[in-house]
Amino acid sequence: MTSRISAEEMAIQREYMKKVAQLNAERDEPPIAHVHSFGCQQNVSDGEKIKGMLAEMGYGFSGDSDGADLVLFNTCAVRENAEDRVFGNLGALKHNKRRKPDMLIGVCGCMVQQEHITERIKKSFPHVDMIFGTHVLHTLPQLIYETLTTRKRHISIPESDGVIAEGIPLRRESALKVSIPIMYGCNNFCTYCIVPYVRGRERSRAFEDVVSEARQAVENGAKELLLLGQNVNSYGKELGTSFAELLRAINAIDGEFRICYMSSHPKDATPELIDAIAGCEKGTRHFHLPVQSGSSRILKLMNRHYTREDYLDLVRYVRERVPDAALTSDIIVGFPGETYEDFKETLSLIREVRFDSLYTFIYSPRKGTKAAEMPDPVSAEEKGKWFRELLEVQQESGCAAYEGYIGRTMRVLCEGPGRTRDGCLTGKTQQNVIVDFDGDRSLIGSFVDVEITGALNWALLGKIVEK
Ligand code: SF4
Repeated sequence: MTSRISAEEMAIQREYMKKVAQLNAERDEPPIAHVHSFGCQQNVSDGEKIKGMLAEMGYGFSGDSDGADLVLFNTCAVRENAEDRVFGNLGALKHNKRRKPDMLIGVCGCMVQQEHITERIKKSFPHVDMIFGTHVLHTLPQLIYETLTTRKRHISIPESDGVIAEGIPLRRESALKVSIPIMYGCNNFCTYCIVPYVRGRERSRAFEDVVSEARQAVENGAKELLLLGQNVNSYGKELGTSFAELLRAINAIDGEFRICYMSSHPKDATPELIDAIAGCEKGTRHFHLPVQSGSSRILKLMNRHYTREDYLDLVRYVRERVPDAALTSDIIVGFPGETYEDFKETLSLIREVRFDSLYTFIYSPRKGTKAAEMPDPVSAEEKGKWFRELLEVQQESGCAAYEGYIGRTMRVLCEGPGRTRDGCLTGKTQQNVIVDFDGDRSLIGSFVDVEITGALNWALLGKIVEK
């Protein structure tokens, strides 16, 4: 069952934070933690909570696991190669533990919500001290305290549809670009995806909690708010509110900043929502609408709840209501049962929509999902050929889309040093497109108007427009 963690339970965890802080204060030197978050933005956001709690408990941080007193891997289950990396890294930590037997090693996140993974960690990695799931992240202080004081292994992966825990301290990765989770979990059960099994059912944070966190972030100097959820478009359904209302409320906060969000599901991107985005001047003009396939037959097998035609109607509506919108998408190549004819429909959809860019993946089965049980007769070699064909087609549309920006003056949030030439700066437009331009480093963190003078296939080039 989904539940909100009570204020009393959070107070208990704060007490544990103090107890661990006391233990750490008795050490000769403050302990160092290495926290690595794999995978998506949601996981990075969980990593900010983990680091926030650890900082309260007296830990300093290192980007390196060597010499660390606590190593925590916040894992992702979406792709097999990320899981393999975690196992590889865990194996290497055996030597660290031998050199420093009192160090703590923990694994949390989506991976350990899968029983076969937890069993493997338990059996093959005896040097791991803590394994805990996505629904008990807020109990990290208690877990650390109990592990430190008993020196026994602690495993906490309760069955749950998910929880919402407010009031966890945060250690943000950036003050300029701030991530704000607005909802957790997913109800959609796309047949290839493991997320609903590891992150629980959809649940939204209270409207006021989100708006006040956004207001606070803006007051602290944030220039970009990234609203996070597995399916942000269905925010607030169980609360009697909506994502459109939330966008309007955040848009009304004073100051110059941008509102971005991820991820969206095309089936929930309603005309009302597009209208709301069109009416919010601080809202991104970047629509990431993951289509996954251009074939209605494959979309049905994926359980996506829209057809090719629905998707193209949605794109037409976005272009009509937000003429300067940039569209990007995700594509899975070689879904079980996909034929070359289906794949050609994906290519034709890409040509028709003219996406700015695409995130493309060759299908990889995830144990426990429906698609992993479906017959998959096409060889890996054949799928590789299709994949290369897809990249060529996208290359043409992407280049054309980027060249279309040349000559325009765009508002750019300057984020730091650029990559295209020595001394240049980089930033992003409201369409989420990278622009490199010359300018003084004092501009980092502010908005500037940039005239676009050139296009590469991954970025634009420009010059600042003097007022
Ligand atoms: S919408 Fe589909 S792909 Fe996205 S998280 Fe939910 S089940 Fe996974």
